[in-house]
Amino acid sequence: MPSAIPAIIATNATDPLAPGTIERRDVRANDVRIAIRWAGICHSDIHTVNGDWGPQRYPLAVGHEIVGTVAEIGADVTEFVVGDRVGVGCMVGSCRECANCVSGDEQHCEKGMIGTYGAIDFDGSVTQGGYSTEVVVAEDFVLHVPETIPYEAAAPLLCAGITTYSPLRHWNAGPGTKVAVIGLGGLGHMAVKIAHAMGAEVTVLSRSLAKKDDALKLGADHYFPTEDPETFTALRNTFDLMINTVSAPIDIDAHLDLLAMGGALVNVGLPPEALPVSVNRLIRGRRSFAGSNIGGIAETQEMLDFCAEHGIAPEVEVTSAQDVNEAWERVLAADVRYRFVIDTTTIA
Ligand code: NAP
Ligand code: ZN
Ligand code: ZN
Repeated sequence: MPSAIPAIIATNATDPLAPGTIERRDVRANDVRIAIRWAGICHSDIHTVNGDWGPQRYPLAVGHEIVGTVAEIGADVTEFVVGDRVGVGCMVGSCRECANCVSGDEQHCEKGMIGTYGAIDFDGSVTQGGYSTEVVVAEDFVLHVPETIPYEAAAPLLCAGITTYSPLRHWNAGPGTKVAVIGLGGLGHMAVKIAHAMGAEVTVLSRSLAKKDDALKLGADHYFPTEDPETFTALRNTFDLMINTVSAPIDIDAHLDLLAMGGALVNVGLPPEALPVSVNRLIRGRRSFAGSNIGGIAETQEMLDFCAEHGIAPEVEVTSAQDVNEAWERVLAADVRYRFVIDTTTIA
């Protein structure tokens, strides 16, 4: 019998989130039931509920930055025991057989990965996310969260961490490379910390000077405001890699001019609008404009272990179930420093 679990629910695209319940399946042989302790607030939660990326299936509990402890395991689970500190990110299933799944890129499953919320699961149910007190997930999509990472700060690694770690690794950020991070929000601040730990020279491009002191404390070497046209003159032909984390459209052409010969501008931000690109900006200097979507499960574990090893954790503001709508407003205003996490003990 599926159980009714307390959650914070969106009932449509416009009304505030409100307390409610969702159903969780009983634990199957390969499943882990997790008592959720902290749930991060990603801008994608807001895009989704607002319908920015298309119509949704309501009622919906969002949230794909989940940490907690294992409360129950299925008969065939081998990787986890009750009490383990674990995490779940943006996906809870994939076919596990296609070339991309086999190579560890489950997020690019040829049959479509199953998102942690709002997706149709194998049994036909709609997946429900982490703004809740419990979740049941196949063990292959559960991560070990090292105990040395502060508990309340770990959740944002499961999306913001892996979404920035993956392109930094793929495009070889490291000693001798110049990396720019565009937008200093949840993803952006993790990109700065991780790129710095990888040994890259890091520049933050934020709209104003407001976040300069923070950026330098996070590990940035340089900081420039994009509202100042002089920034685009001073930094021409500079960067090997630029990671765009902005949740709204920006002038991609102007930013492409800041790439060095052979450099890449990688979009992880996912605004609802198209981002126009001029081909002549790409052919000059053999530049690339690319995208990146979260990361695979093995790579997510690698990222968690990397963060533990380097003492990296997100900067978080704890919020309660009661204040979650206000927290969303502050994310929309780019006012969060730098990621909200929901204390799930406040979910009735
Ligand atoms: P966030 O915390 O809200 O940060 C976004 C940042 O973008 C803000 O802090 C702000 O930085 C900048 N910004 C916001 N509005 C802007 C505007 N109108 N013009 C210019 N800059 C603006 O969001 P997030 O959670 O980091 O997510 C960022 C984006 O990545 C979202 O679109 C999200 O859906 C997407 N995402 C993609 C993936 C993936 O796998 N590709 C995974 C997770 C999230 P400044 O104040 O510094 O300018
Ligand atoms: Zn996310
Ligand atoms: Zn697959």
